[in-house]
Amino acid sequence: MIITQHKAVSIHYRLTNQQGELVESSFEGEPMLYLHGAENMIPGLEAALEGKTAGDKLEVTIEAEQAYGPYHDGLRQDVPLSAFGDIEDIVPGMRFIAETEMGQRPVQVTEVKDEVVVVDGNHPLAGQTLNFSVEVLSVREATEEEIAHGHIHASGGCGSHEHSHEGGCCGGGDDHSHEGGCCSDDNAKEAKEGCDGNGGCGCRH
Ligand code: ZN
Repeated sequence: MIITQHKAVSIHYRLTNQQGELVESSFEGEPMLYLHGAENMIPGLEAALEGKTAGDKLEVTIEAEQAYGPYHDGLRQDVPLSAFGDIEDIVPGMRFIAETEMGQRPVQVTEVKDEVVVVDGNHPLAGQTLNFSVEVLSVREATEEEIAHGHIHASGGCGSHEHSHEGGCCGGGDDHSHEGGCCSDDNAKEAKEGCDGNGGCGCRH
């Protein structure tokens, strides 16, 4: 069975950046399950997988535009420490929901100076060209319910209900609240509720 719209696909992937550094890999853990054609993953990777079948291996380089989008300088901002109120011990890596010029977005603290906290609402992989090594493990028809929900219902499925997927993919456009790792892969859409903004479905998020 080849990968087309509304197939449930299981893959292993290894994501490296332009410097050749490993960003994330599923090979040492659970494979990633996603619903093809439901924007579960970054557009470039989904396009590369179209037409592939179980057993296929591919190496694909994806420009930022087809991955996590361009880096927006306007999403990086200096916030006075006083704006954090009672929150103590602000350190790089902490995440907040903040008002930005693109609306409310999850932001991450990237730097703490004396009285200024630098926060960045860009996806950590925004503006980057990404390299994926992918192995297609299995392909099956998705169920009607999965198609309706825009994601796979299975252990390890992107955005499945019962599981929290840390660092999982997602972004299937539905109205569920999916705990953990569910972010939109579409840069124009806001990250989903509960998103930590860092879901890296190598697969996007
Ligand atoms: Zn669902």
